[in-house]
Parts: sequence; C-alpha cells; structure tokens
Amino acid sequence: MTRRIVVVGGSMGGLRAAEQLRAAGWTETITVIGTETHLPYNRPPLSKELLENPGTTADAFDSVKFRHRSSVSDVQWQLGTEVIGANLAENTLTLDTGETVAYDGLVIATGLRPRRLPLPGPLRGRHVLRTLEDAVELHQELRPGTKVAVIGAGFIGCETAATATKLGCTVTLIEGTSGPMQRALGEELSAGIRDYLVQQGVTYHGHAKVAGLLSTQADTESDSSCNGIRLADGTEIMADVIIESVGSIPNVEWLEGNDIDISNGVLCDEHLRVVGTKNAVAVGDVARFPDLRNGSGARRIEHWSIPGDTAKIAAKALIAELNNTALPEPAIPLPSFWSNQFDLKIQGVGSPNLATRIVELEGSAKTPHDGVVMGYYQDQALVAVVSVGLPADRQLHYRQLVDKRHSNQPQQDTQLQAI
Ligand SMILES: Cc1cc2nc3c(=O)[nH]c(=O)nc-3n(C[C@H](O)[C@H](O)[C@H](O)COP(=O)(O)OP(=O)(O)OC[C@H]3O[C@@H](n4cnc5c(N)ncnc54)[C@H](O)[C@@H]3O)c2cc1C
Repeated sequence: MTRRIVVVGGSMGGLRAAEQLRAAGWTETITVIGTETHLPYNRPPLSKELLENPGTTADAFDSVKFRHRSSVSDVQWQLGTEVIGANLAENTLTLDTGETVAYDGLVIATGLRPRRLPLPGPLRGRHVLRTLEDAVELHQELRPGTKVAVIGAGFIGCETAATATKLGCTVTLIEGTSGPMQRALGEELSAGIRDYLVQQGVTYHGHAKVAGLLSTQADTESDSSCNGIRLADGTEIMADVIIESVGSIPNVEWLEGNDIDISNGVLCDEHLRVVGTKNAVAVGDVARFPDLRNGSGARRIEHWSIPGDTAKIAAKALIAELNNTALPEPAIPLPSFWSNQFDLKIQGVGSPNLATRIVELEGSAKTPHDGVVMGYYQDQALVAVVSVGLPADRQLHYRQLVDKRHSNQPQQDTQLQAI
C-alpha cells in the first residue's frame, strides 16, 4: 500500500519540505495541508516592495508566489484547511472540517503568527503584518499624510516604518530599547541605523513602553477605532494607523496533549526529528533545534534561509526513519538574513545575538549608509558578520570566514584586512 507523508503548513517550509522529500527519494504520496488559501508565497516583500505597491490581491500574489519544481507537481495541496489536533501516537490529524487524516510520516511546518499587544480597546485601526492579505489591507491605509505608529523596531517594524514613510505617511517608531534591531545587531550599529532612519523622516521613540491605546468615542466598541497610543511616561502619540510589530508566537496549539516540548516552537534533535515521538520532523520558523555550530542549545531561527536548510535535513531523516535505514550525518545550517530599509541593504550571516564582543571591521557603525561591516565575536570566535551596502563577492568572503569560524583577533587578523 502506498504510504503518505503529510506536511502541515502550506508556506515556504511546507513547499521546501515537499521538494526535499522528493529530492531525497520519496516517491510515495505527499499531502500538504495549510490554513491559507494561497499556494506558498514569499513573505519578505510584504514589508517592502509589495507593501509599497501591491496592485490587486491577484497581482500581489502573482508577484510573490513561489515557482514549483516539477518534482512536486504531484503533491496534493489541501488549502484553506486548518489542522486543529494531532495524535502522534496513532499517526492521525484532525482537521477543522471534522475529517481525520492518517499519515505514515509528518512534517510540521506551521510557522508563526504575530504577537498582539495585550491591551484593551477596539481592534479597528490596529494592524499586524504576516500574510498577503495583511499587506494588501495595510497598504490601502497608507495614504500620504496618514499618521502611522509602528510599535516594535525589529526588522519587520523598521522595514514597515521605512515603506510607510516612502508612501508619504508621517511615521513614529516606538521601541522599548534605545535602538532599532538592537538585540540582533548590537548597540553601535543599531544606533547608527536609528540616526539614519530619523534622517529619512521617521520619528523615533526609544526606551518607550506602550501603556494603552487611545480610541475614538462611539456608542459601541465596534463603532470606535484606535487613534493613538499612550506611553507609560504619559506621552500620547496620535495615529490613524497602528502597526503592532512586537514579535511572534509559534503555531503549535494543534500539537497539545502529545507529551512533546512545544514551549517555544517544536523541540527537535539535530536531524529535525521531533523529540519524544516517531516519524515526525519540524522545519522552518516553528522548529527549535540544537545549534551544533556554536553549542548554544536549541533555538528557533526566524530567517528566510531556515525553511530550506531545515527541510534538507528533516526530509532525509524522516525518510530514513520510515524506511528503517541509517541516518545521514546532519548538515549544520548557517543562518543568514537581510533587511532593506530605504537605501540601506543590511546583510547578516551567523548568529550575532551570541556575541560577547562586537568590532567594526570596515567603515563606521555611525554612518551605515556609507557602508559598514561589523564582526560579532564569542570570545575569540567569529560567530557572525553584519554588513550594510557590501558587494556580493565581499559578502561571500565574510560568509566563508563565519562558516569556518575563524577565531583570530580582528584587529590583527590579516585575512580580515586583506580582502
Ligand atoms: C513581513 C515579513 C517580512 C520578512 N522579511 C524577511 C527578510 O527580509 N529576510 C529574512 O531573512 N526573513 C524575512 N522574513 C521571515 C521569513 O519570511 C520566514 O522565516 C519564513 O516565511 C518562514 O517560513 P515557514 O514556512 O517556516 O513559516 P510561515 O511562513 O509562517 O508559514 C506557516 C504556514 O503554516 C500555516 N499554518 C499554521 N498553523 C496551521 C495549522 N494548524 N494547520 C494548517 N496550516 C497552518 C500558516 O497559515 C502558514 O501558511 C519575513 C517575514 C515576514 C512575515
């Protein structure tokens, strides 16, 4: 009888998993079940070029949809369907249609959803950005002169603030720390980028805590809408549009009751196999897996490169388990990310958040617009490099250095100088 692998989550991780299962030799059935009604599409443009100019929803989808390799042309897509429960001991899933689906192998690719601010008040006027619909809907609100408050200056918050400013909105970016993307980039580069964003017209409120939402007066809450923010120090910021960009929550509730660790994503081993069960792997943003490169324990990584990298490892491991064959040595993903904000093209490789010491390797963090390269060291080991405006060949050079984990002092490191 033909066996079936079910992939839960019909986005990038789901698509990459299907491709890698085929590449690793799985010729039997693959079914992908996903809540969204679209076939997999690329999310990074949602805060950048697509948010700036989406066209109709159909145009928008066309511009971001992933091309499918012929190897996955026979994959069954069950879209617009949510998996609401799983029995991992019996290899069954429960769908929101009431249907029960049996599987031989399971790929968990359910990603994240945006965290919401736990503040009372009407929802009208408040936005998050994760899906194509979110982006198209938000774009319609971003008219010239619109007052926009972006809460949270992580990558997506900063990109959204930049795009809204480009569209002629008056944008205030509100952040709990002193600088944007500080946890990811460190204080110096964060401060340089904050100054750059301010030069581009963004108003920046650092060290700010949102204490409440302001709303228009109406007889019922459903008729009123949010029209501003009150900070803990009493400052009131009026806004027609409020964008909450305060992190994300892994979509794991459907796995509850299976005695596996889903406390922050799905805990996996180095092969991406779900710890505590059989014939199940996780990929993409939802997977929490050991950082063998740096020995820093299991963690989730929310970068575009991760669905593809984890799918490669997970597909081989799942097939080996199903066929009772030897497990291949797992590859060790090297995280990489990028972010575009106005003219800044930020590129990162490695894990900057592990750094105990950050050094300017080229240029100055104070003027990122002129080009800068920052090295992130854990003791003597180079664990990450983040650059702004660096040509591709130089990025490759730094990628190779991080990959090899060169551990020399940067100031004396001839390889870092001689490029
Ligand atoms: C606005 C935005 C901009 C970004 N920009 C960048 C960037 O510039 N650079 C970068 O490196 N990364 C960027 N990223 C991150 C990157 O897009 C993600 O890392 C990537 O999309 C993760 O893919 P995934 O498939 O693991 O998860 P997701 O894309 O979250 O997909 C999960 C899918 O599973 C579905 N699902 C959830 N629960 C269920 C369920 N119970 N049943 C069925 N289906 C379910 C969801 O509806 C969704 O379709 C950005 C992300 C966003 C949102």
